[in-house]
Amino acid sequence: MEQECMTGKLYLCATPIGNLGDISARCLEIFNTVDLIAAEDTRRTVQLLNHFGISKPLTSYHEHNKREKGEYLIKLLKQGKNIAQVSDAGTPAISDPGEDLVRLCIENDITVTSVPGPVAGINALILSGLSTRRYAFEGFLSVNKRHRKEHLNSVKNDTHTLIFYEAPHKLKYTLADMLEVFGGDRKIALVRELTKLHEEVIRCTLEEAQELYAEKSPRGEYVIVIDGASENNAEPENNFWDELTVTEHVNKYISEGMTSKEAVKQAAKDRGLAKRDVYNEYHKGAME
Ligand code: SAM
Repeated sequence: MEQECMTGKLYLCATPIGNLGDISARCLEIFNTVDLIAAEDTRRTVQLLNHFGISKPLTSYHEHNKREKGEYLIKLLKQGKNIAQVSDAGTPAISDPGEDLVRLCIENDITVTSVPGPVAGINALILSGLSTRRYAFEGFLSVNKRHRKEHLNSVKNDTHTLIFYEAPHKLKYTLADMLEVFGGDRKIALVRELTKLHEEVIRCTLEEAQELYAEKSPRGEYVIVIDGASENNAEPENNFWDELTVTEHVNKYISEGMTSKEAVKQAAKDRGLAKRDVYNEYHKGAME
């Protein structure tokens, strides 16, 4: 109990993604009261603080120093210091540093709390006109071509609306890869410069999006929101047992070391059948 009182708190503070008016009153209050602000880019955060007339010690916490700096911040929190963590824009830990620091705090019994605010992906989703009932946040695609394709293929049949972050200079390549994997008819929303002067939402198909950007250069920050696969269009998954009879399916598991009981159970699970039906089918097949 005594230790709980002495330990500081980590505040994950969301900051504006463009319009400074989106800072919350609580976020400013926390900035004013914490001992230290850990910022992804201290120069950017100084500008934000200056705008609101706040002067506070800052330290950098980013992708390249997160290991050492994380330990240092934990030490300060254990000494009772309260720390706010901010990224360049939006919500920390969402495609931004913060995730590791949260984990470290949990491991060290340090309280973490959030000061909610803007998230580009969620704002793009609600403006997209696509279904918001079920969605999946996919973040950035890898710069590695093979990994990008693997990522896209892994969500090709996903029926949730998909949200991707993308840098403008990679947008054309990403649209080309998406077109190849998802097909030209998928609905897409390209949401640009949210909350800023040139905010824009382009709603079209993937094919139209690719044509559009063949002619014009992408500018600013983008979120790509893509319709999920329709239940009817989703390609069925290929399972290794599709080509096998029930008996062959069970025998495969037995040849891999399972007992016949385990093999029947697993084959039934794979095929969505009752164990008894697989058992009967297997014994019938085995006797033929
Ligand atoms: N943590 C941030 C959040 O909560 O949304 C995201 C940070 S991530 C490094 C930056 C990406 O977010 C950009 O490449 C872009 O895809 C998206 N983004 C950030 N601000 C945006 C804005 N104002 N308009 C559109 N997309 C934005």
